[in-house]
Amino acid sequence: MISVEFASSYANPAGSPIRELFPYLNRPGMISFAGGYPSPSLFDAEGLQQAAQHAFADTAGSLQYGATEGSPALRQALAQLCAARGIQCDPSHLIVTTGSQQAFDLLVRVYIAPAASVYVETPAYPAAIQALRLAQARIHEVLVDEDGIDVDALQRQLEDAVPSDRPKLLYTVPTFSNPCGTLLTQSRREALVRLALKYEFLIIEDDPYGELAFSTSVPPPIYATGHVMAAADNPVVYLSSLSKTVAPALRVGWMLAPAEILRRCAIAKQTSDLCTSPLAQAVASRYLASSRYAAMVAGARDEYASRMRAMAHALRDELADTLTFFEPKGGMFVWAELARPMDMPRLFQAAVEQGVLYVPGDAFYPYEPRGQGMRLSFATPSTHEIAQGVRRLARALRLCADH
Ligand code: PMP
Repeated sequence: MISVEFASSYANPAGSPIRELFPYLNRPGMISFAGGYPSPSLFDAEGLQQAAQHAFADTAGSLQYGATEGSPALRQALAQLCAARGIQCDPSHLIVTTGSQQAFDLLVRVYIAPAASVYVETPAYPAAIQALRLAQARIHEVLVDEDGIDVDALQRQLEDAVPSDRPKLLYTVPTFSNPCGTLLTQSRREALVRLALKYEFLIIEDDPYGELAFSTSVPPPIYATGHVMAAADNPVVYLSSLSKTVAPALRVGWMLAPAEILRRCAIAKQTSDLCTSPLAQAVASRYLASSRYAAMVAGARDEYASRMRAMAHALRDELADTLTFFEPKGGMFVWAELARPMDMPRLFQAAVEQGVLYVPGDAFYPYEPRGQGMRLSFATPSTHEIAQGVRRLARALRLCADH
């Protein structure tokens, strides 16, 4: 290859730790607790096909380039989705993005200069860490417990930080987090907004899982709390996605933010992909306008709840002395910690040999891994496969403990 110098952040870049697990997925008989993939059995192919048929009937709208901010019909439909979650907004207050991953990437591009300080809940969603690392941000970890971000610890960190270490933003998945499945309480949501207003940082609220609540009522998004507490000074940017409820292949997400942020993100998006696929947007807006969306989400909630219960049951049956975990109230993930230290790379290899895959905890920390965690997704395997997969995991753990 010709000798060229890469940009410094790409000289030695780390790839996505989760995508590196993909080759194992194709092994025959493998049961995967690894990906945060929606269950293919839940995809509403018929409903999406009908939506696509209508979309194709309007070729100018679906096959032509579209506005960078997104199609008016989809922005309208997404504003209505937001309203159902407790956020009153005008369609012009949001832009459509190519998955919510792009929304976060755009924010990082417009906000984060090298060496900027950012706060991230940890364990954290790896692709958020990856985007921040590529932007050469200085990442400060804020620990979570079962109720989400520990806001008292955050307050102490903010009080102790020298001004140059004060964060520009804080990234959190407050509702059924990836990877821990935690749900941030309403009082913590309010405390977080107070801290953001006092120390002047943005809260990036990433909410792809909020609609997947099993039974509890979910507090409104932090964005809604920010709106009540600060009106036009709302420090919250809200990201969400149709990936976990409709289909990741649509690549439709959105961002709700103050006009000055949206305008800059739209400009960054112009140079990234001009616009999110108008065909995908047309399918999405027609699907959301149909009555099938609500039915589909209700079905997904029930199915994931029963899969989560199957996983919790199997973990308690097989591994009560070995792993600690709590039952999430929604979403797709159980976070399990080993009660005793173990050689984690060896355990992972043993699990692969036994035919079960999970994401090792290291993937969820920006620098040094803490604890002995693993993320177990219950979304894709059937309840039968979940029981079988946990038995395989138990065998792998026994094999490693015996050596
Ligand atoms: N944020 C979180 C917390 C996620 O788990 C995911 C998907 N794994 C995303 C963002 C990205 O979703 P999308 O498909 O909308 O880009």
